[in-house]
Amino acid sequence: MKTIGLLGGMSWESSALYYQLINEGVRDQLGGLHSAKVILASVDFAEIEHLQSTNDWDGAGQLLAEQSRLLEAAGADFIVLCTNTMHKVAPSIESAVAIPFLHLADTTAAAITDSGMSAVGLIGTSFTMEEDFYKDRLSAHGLTVLVPDAAQRQIIHRIIYEELVLGVVSDTSRTEYVSVIAALHHRGAQGVILGCTEIELLISDDDSPIPTFPTTQLHAQAAIKMALT
Ligand code: GLU
Repeated sequence: MKTIGLLGGMSWESSALYYQLINEGVRDQLGGLHSAKVILASVDFAEIEHLQSTNDWDGAGQLLAEQSRLLEAAGADFIVLCTNTMHKVAPSIESAVAIPFLHLADTTAAAITDSGMSAVGLIGTSFTMEEDFYKDRLSAHGLTVLVPDAAQRQIIHRIIYEELVLGVVSDTSRTEYVSVIAALHHRGAQGVILGCTEIELLISDDDSPIPTFPTTQLHAQAAIKMALT
């Protein structure tokens, strides 16, 4: 079994879910007392949020590159970055280490392609919904990506930073998210990417009018597969 290098803390609410899903998956596949081999580097999310909101992506890239080097030096066989947004600085991480980097957008795109869908909605932070680093990576897999309108993007983003990363899960916010997903469906989305690792703490297939692609679950499954192959 390979050792998974988890680069988390963005936020720890979703990193905890990664840790649980990865261990459950390894136990289910190997049975008995088996659990995953994991090294976790967990950052202070306040520092990350400050770098995001001051537009210091070079600083963010350097910080995560340094954490990746620590994971590699500690014996990780590959790196799993436990956030969609910070994949904006994936190139800084990839160039800092020699071990493989399991890109979240690629694992998400593979699941969508396998489902036979080609047009999907994307909800996540403003960075993920509005900038090209994530959408372009999905488009490279032949997918059409729809994002909410400006007012809806603001609602989605605010609820992530004011509630979900703090572990606050509310019915009111769930209702707001469902109406944004319904609008994406109306515009032609066949499914919706829960493109922020905390969103699946709030929304599941049971709540959504269209199938969801929960990025934490998909990324965790890909990590298990890579660790056991
Ligand atoms: N976990 C989030 C994501 O998947 C948002 C927090 C962050 O900015 O890293 O995008």
